[in-house]
Amino acid sequence: MNTKRMKSLFFSGILTLVVFSGCVSVSPNTPSNNDLLNYNHDLLMGILWQQNSGEYAALCYQAFNAGKAYIASLPPRENRAVVFDIDETVLDNSKYAAWMVVTGNPWGNDTWEGWCNAREADAVPGAIDFALYLTEQGIEIFYVSNRPDSTTESTIVNLQDLGFPLADRDHVFLQENSSDKNPRLERIRALGYDIVLFAGDSLEDFDSATRRWTNRERRDWADAGIDGFGAYRIVLPNAVYGTFESALVGGYYGLSLEEKARTRLENISPWKP
Ligand SMILES: [Mg+2]
Repeated sequence: MNTKRMKSLFFSGILTLVVFSGCVSVSPNTPSNNDLLNYNHDLLMGILWQQNSGEYAALCYQAFNAGKAYIASLPPRENRAVVFDIDETVLDNSKYAAWMVVTGNPWGNDTWEGWCNAREADAVPGAIDFALYLTEQGIEIFYVSNRPDSTTESTIVNLQDLGFPLADRDHVFLQENSSDKNPRLERIRALGYDIVLFAGDSLEDFDSATRRWTNRERRDWADAGIDGFGAYRIVLPNAVYGTFESALVGGYYGLSLEEKARTRLENISPWKP
């Protein structure tokens, strides 16, 4: 047998092994690391875009510039407040998603908490500048996020280290019992503040009712509120994750990786030439 033929057999053997190992059936509840590596690979383009593109930064600047223009259009008043979501609104967590891609680890409460407590999140482009602008205008800032409240201290330090103003226990409200942000917004209003602007990357940062809705309903909500975006609602880009994913189909989080992957494919609209 010549060397070329031997090489060819060797590589086809490896290929068979790879293809075969990709076909090994694994219980949906215990996905293999290889399954997770493949599944998490779907996050790659979004992470690449967030971490590398000028377009991502430009969209963030555009959002915060719109927020500045809206605030500048308002008559000055006392007791105004702006509510920021935290993740992918003021803090960039793309390194956690990138860790999932390179290690094949699933998203998990423990590892997410570990990431939050590591205090390594970077600032979303333009967020610090916008927050400082607001405080210069005498506007109070509140950070309302569904990070677990066990990470409050770490989140505050992460925000402070980056230079965000008013990052303290009186202004940072993380998730205690419910992901519904309304009770926390009511606490802010009960302090006498008029919330004049919301900043977020997810529709539920603007209206918590959207949390439970289908994507059709969420899209309709956005269409009906078109004038508010870039005004009293400023939206930050997030192509890596969001409620839009679980809103693809009821019970999404209970699906196996294979079913989730199939659901993702079934919900794109391809050209059919
Ligand atoms: Mg967010």
